[in-house]
Amino acid sequence: MNHIVYLALGSNLGDREQFLKNAILYLSEHPHIIIKKLSSIYETEPVGYVDQDPFLNMVVEIQTSLDALSLLSVTQEIEEKCDRVRAIRWGPRTIDLDILLYDQENMKMENLCIPHPRMWERAFVIVPLMELNSTLVSPHADKPITEVYGELADKEGVKLWKKIAWVEEYGLSGN
Ligand code: ATP
Ligand code: CA
Ligand code: CA
Repeated sequence: MNHIVYLALGSNLGDREQFLKNAILYLSEHPHIIIKKLSSIYETEPVGYVDQDPFLNMVVEIQTSLDALSLLSVTQEIEEKCDRVRAIRWGPRTIDLDILLYDQENMKMENLCIPHPRMWERAFVIVPLMELNSTLVSPHADKPITEVYGELADKEGVKLWKKIAWVEEYGLSGN
């Protein structure tokens, strides 16, 4: 379990919190994934395609022995198990799992870009990510995440919805 990875989770269809929980449970059940930290859950106004219901968003820190592409397959399988249907780009979804950071790696493949190319401009990603690790640095802008956070325009659209102190609330071991 030698890689540290940050995942962004989002849901705006159906029982949003239950979808977040199910996704985390599926992750925790994977033999090569350990859940390390869970951010609080935030409720956020949709961006990109705005004519849809608000999202619940959070960020999860995991440790894994999977390489990045294998991890992407796992997250996509979880999306499928959560009945994700792809209709409108950035449209409503039961669950979205994005790989934000994978160690310090930079990769640009057809189906996988790491760091996630749009993460630094998204308050709904940066706010929960900062909660988990405020020492991260954006390799694009070579800026500390605290500075990225300070410059975010739309933080007001990201509201604390439920505080999760640590993994116990989800019945996970966290080791
Ligand atoms: P956005 O990527 O802007 O957040 P989205 O999450 O709605 O939009 P999706 O339809 O979920 O987009 O994903 C489209 C494709 O993005 C996926 O099929 C996947 O191959 C690709 N992708 C590229 N980089 C990543 C990444 N870091 N994490 C997850 N998917 C990625
Ligand atoms: Ca996304
Ligand atoms: Ca996605």
